[in-house]
Amino acid sequence: MTTHAPVLPLWLCEGCDRPWPCATRRADLLAERERVPLAYYLSLCLIAAVQDMGWAPVDVLRRRFIGWLP
Ligand SMILES: [Zn+2]
Repeated sequence: MTTHAPVLPLWLCEGCDRPWPCATRRADLLAERERVPLAYYLSLCLIAAVQDMGWAPVDVLRRRFIGWLP
């Protein structure tokens, strides 16, 4: 059971205080989910994060939530 869940509205990892998804969570997500459902899930997270963090550049958030996918 992972504890690397996002803490809203800043989307920081509750497990390691890094921007979510942290490296541990990214590895877990890749292991847990198929590529397409994972991309869909992260897209929903990105949309929520853009709304939560209106001050953050969208491109930075896009890279953080989606850009790391293989
Ligand atoms: Zn973490």
